[in-house]
Amino acid sequence: MKILVLNAGSSSQKSCLYELTEPLPNDPPAPLWEAQIDWTAQAGKALLKIKANGKKIEQTIDSSDQATDTLQLLKTLSEGDTKVIQHSNEVDVVGHRIVHGGQSYRQSVRIDQTVKDTIADLARFAPLHNPANLQGIEAIEQSLGNVPQVAVFDTAFHSTLSAAASLYPIPYEWYEKGVQRYGFHGISHQYCANRAAQLLEQDLHSLKLITCHLGNGCSSAAIRNGQSIDTTMGFTPLEGLMMGSRSGSIDPGVVLYLMREDHYSIDEVEKLLNKQSGLLGVSGVSSDLRQVVNAETERSTLAIETYIHRLRSNIGAMIASLEGLDAIVFTAGVGENSAMIRSRTCEAFRWLGLELDEGKNQASPVDQNIAALSSKVQILVIHTEEDWAIAQECWKLAR
Ligand code: ADP
Repeated sequence: MKILVLNAGSSSQKSCLYELTEPLPNDPPAPLWEAQIDWTAQAGKALLKIKANGKKIEQTIDSSDQATDTLQLLKTLSEGDTKVIQHSNEVDVVGHRIVHGGQSYRQSVRIDQTVKDTIADLARFAPLHNPANLQGIEAIEQSLGNVPQVAVFDTAFHSTLSAAASLYPIPYEWYEKGVQRYGFHGISHQYCANRAAQLLEQDLHSLKLITCHLGNGCSSAAIRNGQSIDTTMGFTPLEGLMMGSRSGSIDPGVVLYLMREDHYSIDEVEKLLNKQSGLLGVSGVSSDLRQVVNAETERSTLAIETYIHRLRSNIGAMIASLEGLDAIVFTAGVGENSAMIRSRTCEAFRWLGLELDEGKNQASPVDQNIAALSSKVQILVIHTEEDWAIAQECWKLAR
């Protein structure tokens, strides 16, 4: 079965094609074809990168609109040096990462008009993401016709949060109108939980796990019996941990102060909290941790210390929700690559019997347990494979 995965964002889009046969492999397979399109490099241009048939192609194209660019990206599946199929009708199913499924979707679903309407309606909760996701679905309809499409939601894994964990203590009618904690990065947290159980050779349902997805966006989740019971992101992906350029949780009074004292508009506050805060806002250097580390200024050091402080205190909260801990997982750009962040985070939990093997931590581990043999809590570094997780969901639904 050939499964195409599309991860459509507002400033970039990633896609890959898997060819799967029964039985599915234990380890994530390499895709036949991988493509990426980036609209941030230059105004009016799009940077297209394709990897297939052992070749890597990079080209800058004139960008008319995102839908047309996506069609161009999909053409490289069946044309030129990156051709991996004869005709587009060889694709059996297409899976989409959809950021917001609201209260409507607790699991993946085959896309029809009702699903599309719901995704469009939920754009009021995720104005940057859901419209781009929908555009991805429509681009596939244009280029691949009636191929079955599947929506895999980033919120779905957290639909198991209890009412106590998901509501905000504001007037209850807002909860009834959908203002609640949804949580995000669900595809990654769920993948990491499954992979952790596999690597530890234990039943997922017997484990208490904390997964820390630390990329440009950051969130952690508390997972018990294979279900998410708590997570740091909430109504939007702005809540919780300090991130690359997002603030994470702040006192809502700060927003009121900015609007009252400095006459910030809604758009300005939104930009400040999403694009000018986090590592970038504090350090004044960059949202990229590597550059912040290299800067070695007073403010860059403060940014890193704040990042670690907030990560530790949120992990503490997750431990309380779980009432125990068997393993902690680090994933995504920072989680997978920064030995320093892992080490400094784990240091705070020595009292729990959590002990890092510093040699393993420094040795660029991938899908490995980096806890010392004597550690009471396991520490895993897992390369997150959201596309593979989406492909597996498609496989399950298609069969
Ligand atoms: P996204 O959330 O956009 O998917 P990634 O998961 O790729 O992002 O994470 C991107 C971040 O990972 C970068 O901004 C950078 O801060 C961090 N990162 C990547 N490699 C390293 C590294 N070797 N050391 C520290 N941080 C890294």
